[in-house]
Amino acid sequence: MIKDAKSRIDEIQRSGKYRQLRLVEQTSGPEMVMDGKKLLNFASNNYLGLSNHPVICQRASDSIATWGTGSGASRLITGNTSIHEELEKKIADFKKQESSVVFNCGYMANVGGITALTDKDCIIYSDSLNHASIIDGARLSKAKIVVYDHCDLRDLEAKIRAHGKTGGLIVSDGVFSMDGDIAPVPELAEISSQYECALMIDDAHGTGVLGKAGRGVCEYFNLDDGVDLHMGTLSKALGSEGGFIAGSDLLAEILRNVARPFIFSTALTPSSIAASSAAIDILLEENWRIRKLSDNSRYLREGIQSMGLDVPDGITPIIPVIIGKNDDTVLFSSILEQEGIFSPAIRPPTVPEGSGRIRLTVMATHTRDHLDQAISSFETAGRKTGLI
Ligand code: PMP
Repeated sequence: MIKDAKSRIDEIQRSGKYRQLRLVEQTSGPEMVMDGKKLLNFASNNYLGLSNHPVICQRASDSIATWGTGSGASRLITGNTSIHEELEKKIADFKKQESSVVFNCGYMANVGGITALTDKDCIIYSDSLNHASIIDGARLSKAKIVVYDHCDLRDLEAKIRAHGKTGGLIVSDGVFSMDGDIAPVPELAEISSQYECALMIDDAHGTGVLGKAGRGVCEYFNLDDGVDLHMGTLSKALGSEGGFIAGSDLLAEILRNVARPFIFSTALTPSSIAASSAAIDILLEENWRIRKLSDNSRYLREGIQSMGLDVPDGITPIIPVIIGKNDDTVLFSSILEQEGIFSPAIRPPTVPEGSGRIRLTVMATHTRDHLDQAISSFETAGRKTGLI
């Protein structure tokens, strides 16, 4: 309640969970100026460095000359331009699906997709570490939500059997946003087929990152079928903004007719649409970015693991360094910042209690020198906090 706001803030501060906005004054890929200080950015999901790509910037600015700065209405009124349609076709081809529907952000794609396809008679089986936008979509849908243990296929199957009802929706992140691990998508596809469920994969962090061509987690597993809703974002590796769901023509049709975030919100600006469209072209042309991202991720992960900090194995550019208590995590992050590295403390409720962490994200545009600076700063912070 609004009248309790002060005491709630006091409580948030006491528990070490207080959050504050920082001011970025300048950024061009890995280097940035924040609150007046030059820092190296290890906290951006701009994995391939495309948000600063000159060709993409040019195509975004050309689109303003043609279309103006705003789309003026929702897609179903007058906001549906030819570049919106061209982007949806490009995403569908990229994801090897019949169709796709673009939403204004990934959050809205999850909320829109889940609420459009489920209702109070449905069961949603959701991984315990799924992104907040999946959780919120599931809650809004009024369906029964059954949470299964993280990536635990036995638990999922046991829970589906216990509910004895087919026709549910299984939903999972493809790459988990705070841990960087990859969901067992082929096995999820098998289970969903066996129990006649639909399968939705949120590939926000796999799109542009996993698979030889960057098509995402399904390409990584060589999986052609079995996922019904391929959700992704345009805001991370593709360097722009927006979200999408790709799948069958019928799926796209139902989303356009029923998904409230699609129906009741003004269409994305032409410049964002043009940037996303150009980003898919560049991603396919400049395949070295995907390989460089993977090399950089391996180098940084191994560098930090080798000093004895708690870093799980993995292959994605999301590298969690588990610290534990909230205050210790904040202290660790502030030492990194003194050393010129920006990688914020991630605390509950974003991650489970007691698993406060530094969430490092790597970019293809980090140089070897940037990575070495990060490794040496982690060593300094690890020693100062007594963790190594
Ligand atoms: N899904 C996942 C797994 C995410 O990490 C995020 C963003 N943090 C979203 C969805 C939401 O995407 P957007 O930022 O484009 O709204």
